[in-house]
Amino acid sequence: MTTHTMRRPAIQLTITVFALLTAASATSQTPSSFSRSDLTAAQALLQRAQSDSTAYQLAESLTTEVGPRFSGTLGDRAAVAWAQEQMRRLGFENVHTQEVDVPQWVRGEAEFAVLEPWPQPMPSLALGGTVGTPNAGVEAEAVMVKDLAALQALPAGAVKGRIVFFNNPIERRRDWAEYSRAVSVRGGGPTAASALGAVGVVIRSLSTSSQRFPHTGGSRQPQDVPRIPALAISNPDADALQRQFASGRTVRLRIKSTARELPKQRSANVIGEIPGTDLAHEIVILGAHLDSWDVTVGAIDNAAGVGIVLTAAHLIQAQKLKPRRTLRVVLFANEENGSAGSRAYAAAQEQNLANHVLGIEADYGAGPVWQFSTRVNPADVGVIDQMYRVLRPLKMDRGTNEAPGNADLSPLVAKGMPILGPELDGTYYLDVHHTANDTMAQIDPAAIRQSAATFAVGVWLGAQYPGKWQRLPPKPPRP
Ligand SMILES: [Zn+2]
Repeated sequence: MTTHTMRRPAIQLTITVFALLTAASATSQTPSSFSRSDLTAAQALLQRAQSDSTAYQLAESLTTEVGPRFSGTLGDRAAVAWAQEQMRRLGFENVHTQEVDVPQWVRGEAEFAVLEPWPQPMPSLALGGTVGTPNAGVEAEAVMVKDLAALQALPAGAVKGRIVFFNNPIERRRDWAEYSRAVSVRGGGPTAASALGAVGVVIRSLSTSSQRFPHTGGSRQPQDVPRIPALAISNPDADALQRQFASGRTVRLRIKSTARELPKQRSANVIGEIPGTDLAHEIVILGAHLDSWDVTVGAIDNAAGVGIVLTAAHLIQAQKLKPRRTLRVVLFANEENGSAGSRAYAAAQEQNLANHVLGIEADYGAGPVWQFSTRVNPADVGVIDQMYRVLRPLKMDRGTNEAPGNADLSPLVAKGMPILGPELDGTYYLDVHHTANDTMAQIDPAAIRQSAATFAVGVWLGAQYPGKWQRLPPKPPRP
């Protein structure tokens, strides 16, 4: 999961448009429900999925046999080969790649230290896309602010020639509201500070952990603002730095980074299908990103998601079920530092977008799913209730019809594709997200099994729906 995910549409607008659509469709469409045999098959699928460990094994294989797979690296290339091999082994058809140009950003080494009032070094990681410093590093007086609004509220010239410390703690939550709120600091902080004349940025990691791991992550780097070096430090170090500021004395910091951008590299989206029968031209798309950050094997982000979507489609096949609509799994390239894979897929499918009738994406850890949210046309909410009744033994809440969705399917959602948006429990997700500590030790086999079961049942019934999945109004553009 990266910067530009998860903004909720203006609720009032959504309600108004939904109300209009509901009124229009009430006259033109009788409610549809699943056939008894499709529901029976869904229950059998759920039973099987509950004792199947394929998703966990896939995550284990990807993190062990490939490891870190930052886009544009050799690990990324190995991941693309791995994904095709697994799809073939699991019985997918039409397995192929879609080539994508991706940035080649190299982290290099980072150093961070407080110089005054009380000197000490702290572990740090550069934010993705940022530039390095001169060899001698950058030393400057520092200004502490909470977030972008606080930065903008400073008097003119307050950060000119200085290093800005964004100190914006987040709270532990099951949903991703806190991440959603705070991610603007990581994504937009360096640019905003640079525009005001700052020479460097350090941020408190988007983290709920008290361990001394800094969290990296993407940062927007528009062409029209000079790039400045930007690093993240861990929560306990941000606390310590905050205490130095609290002394009221001048705080001076030193940043050194050898991060740099090299020419673009090739990567690829990996695509495989379980072909449909009488509605084969309609696609139910399952998405997850294949890449990871460079500092991690990316178990929860996102080997877990890869395992979940591959397993969901595989189990339907393994049960000898023949979906009416085509199930298409897309493992996207470069989600973490650019989303080039997502954009390339949407561009290549531009003439075929209307045939993408339903989507589901896994990019928030290994689960379990705690509520079965969706973003479907209100005309179709009744069948979601039916789906939920099948899923209820997996112990989740019904959820809302305002699922935020994840990054890679967002271009399709923007064009009105409905989604199933099962919400995975993020209580501990932001303890390790984008850190060297994101390993298989963070995945609970029972949790990922429950998630894969949820996806399998949702996708099976989504493919069988006897009605027509109604599209949504285009999602308002992100601010
Ligand atoms: Zn992710």
